[in-house]
Amino acid sequence: MTRRRRAIVPVAVLLAALVAACSADDAALPSLESDERPTSSAPTTAPAAGPGTEGADGVGDPYYPQAGNGGYDVERYDLDVDVTIRGTDHLDAVATVTLLPTQDLSTFHLDLLGFEVASLTVDDRPALFERQGRELVVAPPTPLRTGEQAIVRVAYSGTPGSTGSNQGGLIGDGGWVDLSDEWSTVIAEPVGAATWFPSNDHPSDKALVGVTATVPAPLEAVAGGRLVERRDEGATSTFRWEATEPMSPYLASLTVGDMQLADQPGPPGIRILNAVPLDRPDMLDGAVSRFPEMISFFSEHFGPYPFADAGNVVVPGLPPLALECQTRSVLALSIMDGGPGDTTADEVTAHELTHQWFGDAVGPAAWNAIWLNEGFATYGEWLWLEHIGGLAVEQSARRAHNGNPALDVPPADPGVDELFGASVYHRGGMFLVELRTLMGEDRFDELLRTWVDQHRFGVATTEQFLQLAAEIMGVPYDGSRIAVLSDAWLRSGRLPPLSF
Ligand SMILES: [Zn+2]
Repeated sequence: MTRRRRAIVPVAVLLAALVAACSADDAALPSLESDERPTSSAPTTAPAAGPGTEGADGVGDPYYPQAGNGGYDVERYDLDVDVTIRGTDHLDAVATVTLLPTQDLSTFHLDLLGFEVASLTVDDRPALFERQGRELVVAPPTPLRTGEQAIVRVAYSGTPGSTGSNQGGLIGDGGWVDLSDEWSTVIAEPVGAATWFPSNDHPSDKALVGVTATVPAPLEAVAGGRLVERRDEGATSTFRWEATEPMSPYLASLTVGDMQLADQPGPPGIRILNAVPLDRPDMLDGAVSRFPEMISFFSEHFGPYPFADAGNVVVPGLPPLALECQTRSVLALSIMDGGPGDTTADEVTAHELTHQWFGDAVGPAAWNAIWLNEGFATYGEWLWLEHIGGLAVEQSARRAHNGNPALDVPPADPGVDELFGASVYHRGGMFLVELRTLMGEDRFDELLRTWVDQHRFGVATTEQFLQLAAEIMGVPYDGSRIAVLSDAWLRSGRLPPLSF
């Protein structure tokens, strides 16, 4: 994530805690309630006795306790989305969620904010469900068994992103953004996947995502992964996108707009596709034209680019922000449209590309580890700036060490209000430069490459990163200089002085 000005609504705390409960004592009835919008946290009748337990309403994230859900792993989302974009955005959608229970489940939750759910089946049999804020509580006709795959199909419709703390589109907890009659996009970090599809909305549950989007002609629809099918049917066009590597739900995206899709020759084995506004083909020049070189450059430092696909989507009408949606970053035109000599577009494109390794391929185990995303992406931004003849990495770190009181926040536990504050970005980046100074560039690059290699397509913690650094230094972590450095830079309040 990049936010160039901090004029955006601050990250808000999730909805108040809601009690997870579901009426299942009449589970034999295919009673499908479509327009009940529960507003209270009062539990309904307890689930029927029987094998299985209730799945939790969150994965226990310290910042977003209700993000994600307990009791299963999603293997795959197939999202079939019909988008009306003129006037207020409207979705008519069917989400097919293939999940694997990790415990027997009499009920389980999905995260879904707003919409009317018209029907819900589990393995093609109607299931009871109940809405509790962002929790969609499902009582399958028979309990799910540990390790036995289940297919949940949810038909839903309504205005995406119209409820919750992201009301008005930008940006709070993230989500669908209705930009105009020609444009909409999704900036779902941290917990905004639930504004457009039922999901296990936490970084720790990665799954394959396929998006089939039908949009009014002549608009185009761009998601992550590869465009595997396109059908033009007169008034509408349908685009089917397939990602070949699993992603966290917040990294799934869909942009609808008046776009030009353009392939770009890339390093061997990587398919690059960029999308830019039809009236701004010049957006393919500038920073985007250097994208293949960026991939090669970062691959030298971070190891092979982690995915089969890559690219950027340049979106007009957004405030100056960007998100590292997996395999295809969403970049605001307002960021990319700099004048001569302005390096912002390069920095932001490099920042989001760095996230493909750090944040996307290796995700944060919980949101308090956000610096593992943003500190690294800031470091990537500084590396690229140096590469194109701008400030040296150390100079960038010194420039960021500017007495901003927001830097007096520990990056490794910034709190939800500073989740995207200066500390996780700049102080996180400064720590990495300090660590590089301590380890030497070769061993530091080895650390980054090993980190991605070990945790690719998974999530990891700050502690695991520091332990790996000590391992590569060949010292026990406790009492090491890495421990001293990380205590000062990552865990203490006050910003330490730089050593260089
Ligand atoms: Zn970022």
